[in-house]
Amino acid sequence: MTELEFLDKSIRRIPDFPKPGILFYDITGVLVEPKAFSYCLDVMEEWCKAIKADAISGIESRGFLFAAPLAERLGLPFILIRKKGKLPGKTYTCKYALEYGTAEIEAHVDDIKKDQRVVVIDDLIATGGTLKASRSIFEQGGAKVVEFLGVVGLPFLKYKEVLEPTPVRTIIEYDSE
Ligand code: AMP
Repeated sequence: MTELEFLDKSIRRIPDFPKPGILFYDITGVLVEPKAFSYCLDVMEEWCKAIKADAISGIESRGFLFAAPLAERLGLPFILIRKKGKLPGKTYTCKYALEYGTAEIEAHVDDIKKDQRVVVIDDLIATGGTLKASRSIFEQGGAKVVEFLGVVGLPFLKYKEVLEPTPVRTIIEYDSE
């Protein structure tokens, strides 16, 4: 079995979670398989080195699980993007539309540096709405998101178009539900 096949096997599929009609790709199955977890970090590490990132950012909460160890491996700053109301300091924020209602995410102003080249990581990229909002946060701080990375991508939801012109890479893609 290849490493990619092992990763695929480690990702649990939970139908109708969190609501009917959604097939949930659960990466907790990856975290309990050290070889699959390391494989994800190895792949992302190589990508980040090639991109020459200055900082790694992760989206709360499952994005943290990949972004934080990666930043440590690379010796780069790790910038948290959190749901509104969790960060104690002054923040840049961005509100974005969900299927029903809106959400808001934020990052500490002091964590973002002008002209910094940032890679933003989430566990799974679906519509791309969350990552697009994160890009606005970095723009407010004068930084540049140079690439979005995910473990899982759902390309049938057209996230690449939403996130243009920023490049997006995912380790494994699932084409339909
Ligand atoms: P989006 O903003 O639509 O790209 O949504 C991405 C966020 O929602 C990520 O943080 C994912 O963890 C979560 N998410 C969306 N759809 C799924 C799914 N089918 N399975 C697991 N997580 C999902």
